[in-house]
Amino acid sequence: MDSAKRARVEEWLRYSEELGLGPYYRDRSATGETPAERTSEAAAGSPRGGRIGFPSASDSSTPQASASAAVRSAPQPPPPSSPQEQPNPAHMRPNIGISAAAGPGLFESSEKIAGDTLDRIRGDIGDCTRCRLHKARHNIVFGVGNPKAQLVFVGEGPGHDEDIQGEPFVGRAGKLLTQMIEAMSLRREDVYICNVVKCRPPENRLPERDEIATCSPYLMRQLDVIAPKVICCLGACSAQTLLQTNQGISKFRGEWFDFCGAKLIATYHPAYLLRNPNAKGEVWKDLQKVMAVLGLQPKKRQ
Ligand code: URA
Repeated sequence: MDSAKRARVEEWLRYSEELGLGPYYRDRSATGETPAERTSEAAAGSPRGGRIGFPSASDSSTPQASASAAVRSAPQPPPPSSPQEQPNPAHMRPNIGISAAAGPGLFESSEKIAGDTLDRIRGDIGDCTRCRLHKARHNIVFGVGNPKAQLVFVGEGPGHDEDIQGEPFVGRAGKLLTQMIEAMSLRREDVYICNVVKCRPPENRLPERDEIATCSPYLMRQLDVIAPKVICCLGACSAQTLLQTNQGISKFRGEWFDFCGAKLIATYHPAYLLRNPNAKGEVWKDLQKVMAVLGLQPKKRQ
């Protein structure tokens, strides 16, 4: 390994230790991307324009995806950054073609919580003041939907409407997500919807790394308890958090990853689609892949 690559790996391992998400080795070569690769696609900021609406599930203009899409390895790891406070269980470590390095990371240092439930996780969150996001929030937005869902959507963090109502994805982006779910011939209550951070970042800014690190263990526990077949990350924040990467989402959206026994796919955030309706076709292709894995038939046009 040349010295530049070694320095990157060391930097990455330091970051993983700090963040507590566990040190990993990737099984493919680095792409040389920088931390600045983080895209704005996950931003849940106030959408500017864009037609609301999603292709009908029976729209055959996009190719039907294959359920046997290759599962690939993790994208580029994240840069070194701020500390993490809480552990993720060892069993939750994503299995995305990378193997664990030596040393107790956050995944390693905590065991699976026997008999964990969504109620217990919510109870453990309590009236949380663990990070600065608590200061301006109105409600903790825990998650909603079927506790035994085969499909979980993971967004970034609550926006204004979600903060007020205490439910994820109820604003404009949420309405589009609901259309997406219905286009898959599912109902909102069939799936589970949650976010990486449970409190609204002020001014709809992106969650900071330490806020993500503080909150993500609860997301991991939610995913562990629900044990879905498919996790669909909405936007870069969610995908980068679960896949532990700083690579731009456009580099790996639509591809399958293993995540602790579930299949994980990342697609663009509905708020991004509100600003960029032309990307809806790509998202629809991703959702068709999810449908193929779940054995869902497209909804017939009325
Ligand atoms: N954007 C998100 O990422 N999550 C929400 O709950 C709402 C908007």
